[in-house]
Amino acid sequence: MKLKDFPSDIREFIIPKPQGRMHYRCLGCRKEFSINELLYICPECSSVLMLEIENLSEILGSDGRQWQRIFDFRKMINHQALKGIFRFYEFIAPVIPLEYIVYLGEGSTPLVRANSHLKELTGRDFYFKNDGQNPSASFKDRGMACALSFINYWARKNNINRVLSICASTGDTSASAALYASYLEELLSSAVLLPHGKVTPQQLSQPLGSGARVIEIPGVFDDCMKVVEALSEKYHVALLNSKNSWRIQGQESFSYEICQDFDYSVGDKVVVLPIGNAGNITAVISGFIKFFRAGIIRELPRIIGVQSEHADPVYRYYLEDDPDKRKFIPVNVKSSVAQAAMIGNPVSMPRVMEVVDEYNNLAGEKRIFVVQVKEQEIMDCMIIANRNGNIVCTQGGESLAGFIRAIREGIVEEGEIGVLDSTAHMLKFITFQEMYFEDQFPPEFEVRPREELKNRPVLIRPETLRVCPEPGKVLDKEEFSIFVKDTVKQIAELLDLRPKTDKIT
Ligand SMILES: *Cc1c(COP(=O)(O)O)cnc(C)c1O
Ligand SMILES: [Zn+2]
Repeated sequence: MKLKDFPSDIREFIIPKPQGRMHYRCLGCRKEFSINELLYICPECSSVLMLEIENLSEILGSDGRQWQRIFDFRKMINHQALKGIFRFYEFIAPVIPLEYIVYLGEGSTPLVRANSHLKELTGRDFYFKNDGQNPSASFKDRGMACALSFINYWARKNNINRVLSICASTGDTSASAALYASYLEELLSSAVLLPHGKVTPQQLSQPLGSGARVIEIPGVFDDCMKVVEALSEKYHVALLNSKNSWRIQGQESFSYEICQDFDYSVGDKVVVLPIGNAGNITAVISGFIKFFRAGIIRELPRIIGVQSEHADPVYRYYLEDDPDKRKFIPVNVKSSVAQAAMIGNPVSMPRVMEVVDEYNNLAGEKRIFVVQVKEQEIMDCMIIANRNGNIVCTQGGESLAGFIRAIREGIVEEGEIGVLDSTAHMLKFITFQEMYFEDQFPPEFEVRPREELKNRPVLIRPETLRVCPEPGKVLDKEEFSIFVKDTVKQIAELLDLRPKTDKIT
């Protein structure tokens, strides 16, 4: 839609201007720092940072209804920079001029409603929000679009013409970072650090395909993270891990989209998501808080974080009900099919502690819960979801397993509707499906396939065939008709097909 065709009272707000003021806030010493420098941790006390927008209400007052109209109308403008997460520009990074925004097709991911079988299984109505339908096939693109747009702007403004971006990854961060960096190839080159053997072949192929330097080191993600942090302290690099608060800003768009897609009525929703490094749950909580404070939503949804019993430090922390007695203790992770969430010492834990308390205070009751699930449940749920029209990854399976667990524990009330985060596309984690179907899980995973859920290809090659078709080798007419006839016969037997000559009863 053309700008002149929007209602006159809304027209001036459709294409936003960079009139925000932002700063970093340290979660340790509470000091503020300017965004003119790329900061990942507090320069004074080394704690993690969050970004704050100082003048949100100044930009448009606090008329929630007007914000709703702006976002709903903005959906219709054909402006590249506003097609993705930056539809919610004022709430994400209202300091970046639109011409610096990198849009590769991220955001606006679909909500897919559970079919009747899945509703019966859980006893609830629910949706998967398919964040696997982002350009690098995981939600990480939401944060990367924001972080790279900011770096793009920051570098040009400061006349810096070469930046090396770097990140540690359980697979999806590096795929996303490498993709976005490659779009800005004249400015950025990228390197990614992966734990050797701990990412899927698909995830490894992604940064390679985007032209990044891919470095594998021994250990698990937590070890990679330590190396990257040491690197970024000593050398000039742009760190793209979720310590980078611009990523959190971008990932808040997940919550904004849920609000918009349910016409800003989310009080009866239960948002379920896996927790790894805890950047995503921080962003999701913080997104709902901002919309609530701006009057865009009137009620806060219930939020359920899910962890596997093989990597559950956040679950353990919240087991203690008394906030004064809680103590965070990192865990040593064990092998997990939810590999992207296999993290024992989440970088964003201090952020989680902060936003969870704020959320519950705003809601006036406990609205955030963390549940723990078994590896077996995660795998079974991934397979079952996908046999019912979905494309969820193992972490999406974890969301479904967590939803079922939460219902069983009485955390979800009657009539509440689930919104389950499928954080990546199933194809990225297809090796786990293969292990399930082939019953090939190493014992430490503790996963046994359920017989009725197994599936594998059947090769049909009738014994009667003397020769089979092959590339470059044409069968003679008679051989070919035997091939077709006998293969058809065997398939019909296998599928128990009824000949057309039979009467239909
Ligand atoms: C990164 C990732 C997670 C975990 O998100 P955090 O922000 O680290 O908690 C879950 N699922 C997938 C597919 C991921 O890539
Ligand atoms: Zn500090």
